[in-house]
Amino acid sequence: MIEARSTFRSPREVLFALCKRQDWKCAYCGQEMSFDGASSLTPAIEHIIPIVRAGRSEPDNLAAACRTCNSSKGDLTAIEYRAREKLRAAEALGDMKDRLIAKAEFFEARAKCLAEEAARYAAEACGLRQIAGPL
Ligand SMILES: [Zn+2]
Repeated sequence: MIEARSTFRSPREVLFALCKRQDWKCAYCGQEMSFDGASSLTPAIEHIIPIVRAGRSEPDNLAAACRTCNSSKGDLTAIEYRAREKLRAAEALGDMKDRLIAKAEFFEARAKCLAEEAARYAAEACGLRQIAGPL
């Protein structure tokens, strides 16, 4: 169990714990991350549901991702990001049917994540949860 809110764990310690948990593989592309190699493969703390989308800095919402994936993902949730990457691959290589299926899956993922985001804000408004906290 990784305790991100602990007062004695720095963000760097949390990042190392996440990398160790994932065997130093990026949560999205699966490439091996390192502090010694290419800067694109330097690990970063990744919020599976971004803070700006009412995600929290808690262990079950954190992963380690390479800088390339982390910056490419932006404010998408992990589910949306994976669907978008599948859509991009279909747009580059797939036939029309593959593209339309991938597009439908992306919008389905987006709708699901936006509905969940709305529920998080509603819960926050009702005082049922705190959206964001310190790392
Ligand atoms: Zn990656």
